[in-house]
Parts: sequence; structure tokens; C-alpha cells
Amino acid sequence: MGGLSTRRADQGAVRLSNLALVLRQLSARPLESRASIAEATGLNKATVSSLVEELISARMVREVGIRSGSIGRPARTLELDGSGLAPIALEIDVEYVAGLARDLAGRDIHSVKRLLNVAGQPPETTIDALVSIVNELRDRIAAAGAEVAGIMVAVPGLVDMGHGLVMRAPNLNAGWRELPLAARLRTALGEPRFSVQIENDCNLSALAENREGANAHVNEMIYVTGQFGVGGAVIIDGQLQRGALGFSGEVGHMVLDEAGPACGCGRIGCWEAYVGLGALLRRVDPAWDLTIDPAEAVAEIVRRAERGEDDTLCALREVGKWLGVGASILANIFNPEVLVLGGYFARIGPWVSEIMMDELRRHVLAPDLGGCRVTFSSLGFSAPLRGGTGLIAERILADPGSFTRNGS
Ligand SMILES: [Zn+2]
Repeated sequence: MGGLSTRRADQGAVRLSNLALVLRQLSARPLESRASIAEATGLNKATVSSLVEELISARMVREVGIRSGSIGRPARTLELDGSGLAPIALEIDVEYVAGLARDLAGRDIHSVKRLLNVAGQPPETTIDALVSIVNELRDRIAAAGAEVAGIMVAVPGLVDMGHGLVMRAPNLNAGWRELPLAARLRTALGEPRFSVQIENDCNLSALAENREGANAHVNEMIYVTGQFGVGGAVIIDGQLQRGALGFSGEVGHMVLDEAGPACGCGRIGCWEAYVGLGALLRRVDPAWDLTIDPAEAVAEIVRRAERGEDDTLCALREVGKWLGVGASILANIFNPEVLVLGGYFARIGPWVSEIMMDELRRHVLAPDLGGCRVTFSSLGFSAPLRGGTGLIAERILADPGSFTRNGS
């Protein structure tokens, strides 16, 4: 690289970090003027003015009013806008695919959910369904006068985020082994200019819970979520812990008993084989049709529990007991401030809490559970989608250059 282009690259990097600095300032303290941003950030006023113009033209910032200062002329105040850019999140589950478009400020634009037997068909079928969802969301985003800011796909399996690879998805099928999903989806979408990334669904749910749920900004949090699969995520010091290769949090496959029930992953006695939705449904009725929408299956379980049906209550007690056993292992290892149970666990709380807490108290060494609170998520089934749009938004706010007028 020659001297001139190096200098250009340096200037570009400085501009990007200054754009991010202005956004961070406005996110922490809305309704600042250009002058007060300059004062707070140490940038000069002319630089701030030019950065703000760039952010306004990208609709990431807007002018909202006039503030008369104690000295000098009245100044226009600014706040984060975000209406011009819309992150898209997609979710792949065993029995459905879903999508959500929100603007950068977190306001919903449109959501879609389609039942699809993902596990029973080759990945191509699912990729086609995702493309059709993206097209529907793109139309709605365009109608809202915004542009797509990027796509994040939530995958129920081991994900190599850096390479966009699904390494393994035990609850889907062998076609998902080492599947270059991000690249395949990009191609199917006609190589769009925005980014297409993939991430583990539990990691995204945990981020949603830690950014906008009842447990927003808790520093030490364990998140466990159940549908057919059971997964988890660990947040330490406010940061998601991905592990050495990004495969951490597979709590559903902690082996509790090598002589236990068979797990979808091919092993025996995993936690998931005791507390996953499939395990609960089969315990209630061995002939349960496992291809129905999980949300409907859970609603049916709740109806039966409310009617006091013995088989259902008994199966729920069993799930509660094993939830407590597995959760105690996590509490012993991590001593979290909060352990959040999401996905379908959040719907069955009233029938499993008591027995789960008994088991936790029996198995956690520290007194009073080491101060750990156990709560059920209030985000429910939409958590991976919210986490996905939120992660794209966070990245843009930290590195806004490619979405502003002069950037690329
Ligand atoms: Zn397993």
C-alpha cells in the first residue's frame, strides 16, 4: 500500500471512530447540541458539524428542537433517529422459520412466521423459505422508507460465526453439517450489499434478554432456553462468552446420566433429553405428533395443566425436577446474579418452579443459591429475533461508516 492510500485509510479510520463517538454520545445523552457534543467529545465544532450532517443524511441522527443555552445563540438539539436503517433477523427452528425487521432504534417494522418441517427436508428448502421471508420484509422496509442494514440468522446448532458455517445442528439433520449457510443465503439473495451473518440462537436470545428484557444490563447472567432443543449462553461481566471456537453454552448436552434417555444429538442422558419440549410431550403422551408448531404444543400443555390433567401435571413435575438438577450445575460453576429460563420454560413456570427451586436448594453448595435469582424470560419465542436485530444495530452504532453517505 502506498503512502497516499495509507493516509486515506488512516483518515477513513479516524472518521469512522469519530462517527461512532458522536453516536455513543447521543445514545448516552440525547438532546445535545453540536456545540455540547464537541465539548463532551473533545472534537472541534467544525468536525462535529460535518459528522452530524453525515449522520443526518443517513437518518441515524435527527434534529428535534431548539435549546437556548446560557451563552451564545440558541442551538438545535439532536437525537438518535435510526428510522432509515432496518436490521433483519431470521430464525430457523425445527418446525418453523421466522423473520423480523426493526429499525435501528428498535421499533418493529414487520414480522413473519411460517411453519416448515425444517428437520425433515434438505437445507435448500429452508434457504428458499428464508429468501421468501427476506423478500417480504424488504418490501415492508422499503415501504417504511428505510433500507436493509444487514441480516442475522439464528441457528439452532454449533455456529462458526467468522466463516458463516453451521458446524452441526443435531435437531435438524445431517444436511446441516458444515453447511456454509451465510454464503448460500447471500447467493440465493443475489449477493446483496448488506452483510449476511449467522449466530447461535441461544446466544442471540441471551443478548436480547441482557439488552432489553427484565434483566437488561445484569453483568453475570446465565440464560437457558428450551424448545425441542435446550441451549444456553453465559454472560460474564456484561459480555457474551463464546468460548475458544464459539461453541460454548451447549448446556443441553451436559450428560446427567449415561443410562438415561436418548438425546437428539445421538448421545445418552443429556439434560435436553429430560427437559426439552420433545421429552415433555412424549412423557405426556408417547403418541404426540411432534411435527406441530411448538408454540401450539406448549399452549395445549398449558391448557391440560390448567384443567389439572394428571399425566400432564406429572410430566411437568418431572421436567421441573430435572430443570433444577441441571440448573444447579450451572449455579455451582458460574455463581450468576440471575439465571433466566426462556423459550417454552417461561410458559410452564407455574407448574415447575417449586420443584425446580427445591432441587436447586438441594444441589447448590453456596448458601441461599449464592445470591442467584431464578427468573423466567418475558421475551418468549421472539427472543432470538430481537437479539439478532439488536446485534446488527449495536455493530452499526459501533461502526457506522459503511451506512453513511460517504462511507464504504
Ligand atoms: Zn445431547
